[in-house]
Amino acid sequence: MRLRRAPETPEETPAAAPRALRRALPPPAHLRRERRALLQVRERRLRDLGGLLVEMYRRDQFRQELLVDRCDELAKLEERLAELDTLLTAAASRGRVRDAARCECGAPIFWGAKFCGQCGREVGAA
Ligand SMILES: [Zn+2]
Repeated sequence: MRLRRAPETPEETPAAAPRALRRALPPPAHLRRERRALLQVRERRLRDLGGLLVEMYRRDQFRQELLVDRCDELAKLEERLAELDTLLTAAASRGRVRDAARCECGAPIFWGAKFCGQCGREVGAA
């Protein structure tokens, strides 16, 4: 059986993508929550799709457009998951940079600051 893919809909132009990435990152906790929820939905959809396929086999009645629709949904879901992974990676690397810049007292030091806002120590003096 050959599955025909639905005709591609024009996605966002490549020029729009870099600007979208420069927007403020949502909090990592939100991203992780969405990712977890999506993974669950994906597992469920995959199981349903398998069940649907077996049911069609039993009835010897394949409804191709139904299968293509379900696969389309799954592909979109996985696209969003990949996007979330990218955002989480970006958030993680940003967190590492921020963690590196800390005063002896433990307070975070803002980029370009000369003194600690918490204890007044000169940054980099120690
Ligand atoms: Zn300090």
